[in-house]
Amino acid sequence: MPSPTDQALSVTPIPAFRDNYIWMIDNRTRAVVVDPGEAGPVLSTLKKRSLKLSAILLTHRHEDHIGGVARLLQEADVPVYGPRYDPVVSVTHPLQEGDIVTLPDLDNLALSVLDVPGHTRGHIAYYAKKEKWLFCGDMLFGAGCGRMFEGTPEQMLASLSKLAALPDDVQVFAGHEYTLSNLKFAREIEPGNEAIAERARQDLARRNRGRPTLPSTIGLEKATNPFLRANREDVMKRLEELGHLKNRNPVDCFAAMREWKNSYV
Ligand SMILES: [Zn+2]
Repeated sequence: MPSPTDQALSVTPIPAFRDNYIWMIDNRTRAVVVDPGEAGPVLSTLKKRSLKLSAILLTHRHEDHIGGVARLLQEADVPVYGPRYDPVVSVTHPLQEGDIVTLPDLDNLALSVLDVPGHTRGHIAYYAKKEKWLFCGDMLFGAGCGRMFEGTPEQMLASLSKLAALPDDVQVFAGHEYTLSNLKFAREIEPGNEAIAERARQDLARRNRGRPTLPSTIGLEKATNPFLRANREDVMKRLEELGHLKNRNPVDCFAAMREWKNSYV
């Protein structure tokens, strides 16, 4: 007898390159993929699970997120959704804040588009309000955030704050498995934060079993991700004491952390 979950949508990670995740959403017959940096692992997963590709979703223009698109399009002529303000030639449906993607092949899954500039100028995130899923590419990571390639600290902090304002139980599907090294940095910033220590224990155990640390949740990120905690007095004080921060305000605090993280080993 079919169980109620038989028809439900599910999200699974397809590991790519060294530490990328291509997220696949499927309903057991149809699938869409988010940020297919390479085609091979996607094609083999589709084949193994007898799924037909329905659409491709892109968060930003970096090669490790779009590199597999051309090959996938050779196999299946599907729409490619992507950022309006990041130049990606294969995008057939350019998107920006306020747009909603509806996927008829996936039970009309609706994804709201959020502009989250900073890592790249046009970076977008996809938010499924009903399912409580967030696909955020290289903007927000487990306990970290993307490098600030094309934005200002103000922009980047505003983008992260937009994501942090989503409900606590929203699941965060980020584009890379960086959580453990990010947590090491987080512990440097907040040595007394027990939530960070506990997350590090749990995520280390996951990695030791070969499991992803993602998805996390917005609530967990707010409790453990230093880049979402740049407005806290104790975080600013710590950065100041360590000699990384001159002026105690959230934007400078965020910029100081981002700068320090770039060279942190
Ligand atoms: Zn990127």
